[in-house]
Amino acid sequence: MRLTYLMGLWMALSLFCSSQSMAAVKAYRASILHFVADPARYGDQAWQYFQDGALVVEDGKVKEVGNHSDLWQKFREAEWIDHSGRLIVPGFVDTHVHYPQTEMIAAYGEQLLEWLNTYTFPTERKYKDYDYARRQSRFFIDQLLRNGTTTALVFGTVHPESVDALFDEASRFNMRLIGGKVMMDRNAPDYLVDTPETSYTESKALIQKWHGRNRLLYAITPRFAPTSTPEQLTAAGKLKSEFPSTYVHTHVSENPNEVAWVKSLFPERSGYFDVYEHYGLAGDRSIFAHGVHLTDAEFDRMAATRSSIAFCPTSNLFLGSGLFKLFPAMEKGIRVGMGTDVGAGTSFSMLQTMNEAYKVVQLQGQKLSSLQSFYLATLGGAQSLGLDDKIGSFKTGNEADFVVINWGATALSKLRTRNSKTLQDKLFVLLTLGDDRHIFETYVDGKRVYRAK
Ligand SMILES: [Zn+2]
Repeated sequence: MRLTYLMGLWMALSLFCSSQSMAAVKAYRASILHFVADPARYGDQAWQYFQDGALVVEDGKVKEVGNHSDLWQKFREAEWIDHSGRLIVPGFVDTHVHYPQTEMIAAYGEQLLEWLNTYTFPTERKYKDYDYARRQSRFFIDQLLRNGTTTALVFGTVHPESVDALFDEASRFNMRLIGGKVMMDRNAPDYLVDTPETSYTESKALIQKWHGRNRLLYAITPRFAPTSTPEQLTAAGKLKSEFPSTYVHTHVSENPNEVAWVKSLFPERSGYFDVYEHYGLAGDRSIFAHGVHLTDAEFDRMAATRSSIAFCPTSNLFLGSGLFKLFPAMEKGIRVGMGTDVGAGTSFSMLQTMNEAYKVVQLQGQKLSSLQSFYLATLGGAQSLGLDDKIGSFKTGNEADFVVINWGATALSKLRTRNSKTLQDKLFVLLTLGDDRHIFETYVDGKRVYRAK
């Protein structure tokens, strides 16, 4: 009698426990696309597509991806969510964006240097106020999520408060976000400069506070060579050597006048990129935005130092900066990610960024395939940040950041998609006609953080 009672209790308990553990497993049925390598190099070996697929997630991590028919059997007890007819891809990675410039996107008429003085610097002044910066951070992160972007490498302003606000806001979703305080001690208004000493101590305090906290990471962020003295670049290099796992995030060779200016400011260096290399700021965790006017020899140095480039097509076109040589850079072995570069960039949408990337490459007489575009916006971005062991694909154990996409969210994309015969064509239509209206849901750390209304 007593034994039967105990056995009954044990069985009830074990049933309860197993139902508890299975309840934590969620499985999403949809068409699923992800990359395991660069399709330009590895062809069809580089990507996996499951027309009727399933993505299984447990405790914020990818458990398995595959055909629905196989995984349905294996994870019968999981909570199944049906997105049949939609597409799931890994969350987009934006490798270069300025959150304080969100409010000044679409500013008319100038090229880089005038644009900075006329629009950017007066706007960035406001971010000394933590509460203001926090409100703007909330708006910014909402824009990322509604566009399916789950990781970004982000410029703050010169004020440490701007970084605290951004990281506090990203913490609400446990996002994998990289950011940093701008270092800038010359050629900018008095109200927006620091010094070599304060930029060092403030950046160091932010690194100690935020770098590696949950999923957050810190980037040492000199704005660009013209706004830092040699003393400040030395301080930035010192920070990098003291905290080697941090990132370096800056701009290089965006605009011809800027390149000429750097030459006059650093006549002893062989070129723009050499300035950064000289101060110890090149390396496998260094991301340089633009690189439009880098020479072939500079591409070689970038490849040799394992540095990455953020390709920002909407910005390069908007500011009239020039056409980035995507294929030559990648053929050198340089890792390239896509960046929106808002507010010189004109959209938070990585779909629209891919759209403009295609045109930049077309203007140089080459073709950027839809598969390679989606690779660059996901795994390529993760690789350029050295984070491909954590994000950018649905490898088992990766962090479960992903996007559910509606192929035909507008009348036009619906009409055109209906005529698509191949996956490649469907993806091309999506990136050409798509925008935030096509993002149905966004998941960060296994949790839904956005759903279209
Ligand atoms: Zn930028």
